[in-house]
Amino acid sequence: MKDVYLSIGTNMGDRYDNLQQAIALLKQEKAIELVRISSVYETAAVGYTDQADFLNIAVHLKTNKSSAEMLQLCQSIEQELGRVREFRWGPRIIDLDILLYNHENIETESLIVPHPRMYERAFVLVPLVEITPTPLGKQLQQAHHELQQLDCEREGVALWKDCNKPLTVN
Ligand code: AMP
Repeated sequence: MKDVYLSIGTNMGDRYDNLQQAIALLKQEKAIELVRISSVYETAAVGYTDQADFLNIAVHLKTNKSSAEMLQLCQSIEQELGRVREFRWGPRIIDLDILLYNHENIETESLIVPHPRMYERAFVLVPLVEITPTPLGKQLQQAHHELQQLDCEREGVALWKDCNKPLTVN
């Protein structure tokens, strides 16, 4: 089984419900075992800032799926939840990114892992670091290190829902 970390974000419609639906769809997959889901964080939009705030979580799962199959699954969940790609960095019902895939470095036309921008984004690192076990692999060590360099308050990442009151998925 491979260890996979995903980042999930949403800033349209019922954001909490969007997260719950994405988790429910991951849970439905036989080849996926959900290990841990982070608290929910609320984050001001980065890049194109004239849009609603995001909710962000990180998810740790184990799977037999290949990295390409995981990307396909993430994209099919985005489609199922009705994501309309209007423009890059713009508002989105749901966005699923593969942050880490079993300590591998992957670079294909459609997939780059570790996710190319993960180390500079507090809204990715804060939930990811919350759910990472120790001892840490090299990539997660870097995530912890980079997070220490970022000013999360300035970057607008705030706890929205504690993981001790976790996302409920039926
Ligand atoms: P986005 O607008 O963030 O959903 O970008 C999705 C695009 O990024 C897709 O065309 C993917 O093929 C590509 N991509 C590259 N690396 C990754 C990754 N680690 N996770 C998800 N999508 C990725």
